[in-house]
Amino acid sequence: MNREQELSRLRSEEIWDLVVIGGGATGLGIAVDAASRGYKVALFEKNDFAKGTSGRSTKLIHGGVRYLAQGNIKLVKEALRERGILLKNAPHITGAQPFIVPVYSIFSFLFYGIGLSIYDILAGKLQIGKVSWLGKKKVLEHLPSIHPTGLKGGILYYDGQFDDARLAITLGLTAADHGACLLNYMDVKGFEYSDKKISGVKCQDVLSGNEFRILSKSVINATGIFADHLIAMDKADQPAMLTPSQGVHIVVDPIFFQGSHAMMIPKTDDGRILFAVPWNGKVVIGTTDTAVKEISDEPEAFDEEIDFIMRNFNQYSGRKLERKNILSVFAGLRPLVKSTNKGSTALMSRDHTILVSVSGLITIIGGKWTTYRKMAKDAVENAIFVGKLKKTRCITDDLRLRGWTEEENPTQYGADLAKIKEIEKENKIYAEKWHPDYPFTRAELIWMIREELAMQLEDVLARRTRLLLLDAGLTIRIAPRIVEWMAQEMNKDEKWKADQLTSFNEIAQRYIL
Ligand code: FAD
Repeated sequence: MNREQELSRLRSEEIWDLVVIGGGATGLGIAVDAASRGYKVALFEKNDFAKGTSGRSTKLIHGGVRYLAQGNIKLVKEALRERGILLKNAPHITGAQPFIVPVYSIFSFLFYGIGLSIYDILAGKLQIGKVSWLGKKKVLEHLPSIHPTGLKGGILYYDGQFDDARLAITLGLTAADHGACLLNYMDVKGFEYSDKKISGVKCQDVLSGNEFRILSKSVINATGIFADHLIAMDKADQPAMLTPSQGVHIVVDPIFFQGSHAMMIPKTDDGRILFAVPWNGKVVIGTTDTAVKEISDEPEAFDEEIDFIMRNFNQYSGRKLERKNILSVFAGLRPLVKSTNKGSTALMSRDHTILVSVSGLITIIGGKWTTYRKMAKDAVENAIFVGKLKKTRCITDDLRLRGWTEEENPTQYGADLAKIKEIEKENKIYAEKWHPDYPFTRAELIWMIREELAMQLEDVLARRTRLLLLDAGLTIRIAPRIVEWMAQEMNKDEKWKADQLTSFNEIAQRYIL
């Protein structure tokens, strides 16, 4: 993907079949679905792809053990099916992860053992590993850091794990391979109408300030927690549909949680689930579920949320975590569909909802990363109806995503790694590493700029790689070197470099306690 080429396509295309607003899991999934059916698709994201909720998840591809406990069998079954499809179509960014639920009573042994066996059965043929009941010794072998006092044993089960922002970029590349036009830093500011029906969007290039009027037969609002804003722009007299709920994660060194197995704490001191999951050489611990009134592009963790995570983790851990041990903290907002239920957001539905306004704006909200493909399929079916598009069949259940490979232990680029190796041959300095502790090279940075629409320093440090989430302090230290290399590749001046460093450092400070 090249921004200049995408912009010139935007200028030359007269009318699109579908415009998608929002470049998170939902919007990018829709772009893949629609483009692979042969429709002319344009997608606009006001920030970077996955800058919102989609880059801040727990990184699990799961049916949702918690939803099983809530009795939502349909959602769990659907999500487990989607889990199987995603693991098959994107093996380079996903994988099976073993989890252990430590148990401290015979009742818990039976309760979680039976529950997780049902979870396994619901996955049917798409099961990724067998549930087993482990004795105390085996649990301590797999989770050497946990507190042994009172431990009776544990239940071993499997779920999927992935890199959320990398999957978002991969979806973008896949959609582009099928002809979609994708632009990050393109803010949708309003709609075009013809006979009171939406006939396109007005948008602005955030990087140049240029404005565009884009015509389209159908428009999908996939803006997550911002969906109500877009509905308000459409001036439809529609009550707010969303209740945002914040979820926070902390990231720590594996010294605090050793081994390759993840831990699922089934009941925190306020009755929620907490995960500690090895990820990219560090451990991600979370999450919380806090109802919030304000929504923002950079939500911030509350002190109580950090304390909650540490307190509950420390109850299980032999090595106590302190605030100074936290390498990074990130917060995301769940776009939960409003219900009449006045209780906790933890109990609200994770199902998705599609609404078509009188003007023809299609809004899709809710759901989970795991179910993005099914959500996309449903949204595109609506667009076909609203935009009177020629009917076509969804092909994404068998569609391999960009970089698909059979190789064992592939990198995040999958089959594209060979193209990065070609860049490396252009100049011997391109083999230089970003930092001795991480594998990323200057050639990869060039690839991210040339092919993955990385436009800003934050794009490469937070989403093309996940360094900001893994060790925020380290990213501040390497930022001057990376911005220098970016400026050379992108032909940018001193002012651009200085501005990039200032805005990145401001953002990175929010990830450091
Ligand atoms: P977003 O990712 O927020 O994307 C919407 C995009 O629209 C944003 O990028 C925004 O910038 C853009 N936008 C807004 N307004 C405009 C405009 N005017 N013009 C252009 N663009 C605009 N799910 C799982 O399956 N597994 C998990 O482990 C998991 N963990 C989670 C943990 C937490 C803490 C949270 C909060 C959620 C988790 N989820 C998980 C749920 C999952 O992350 C979300 O359901 C999913 O990412 C939502 O994607 P989205 O595309 O709808 O929203």
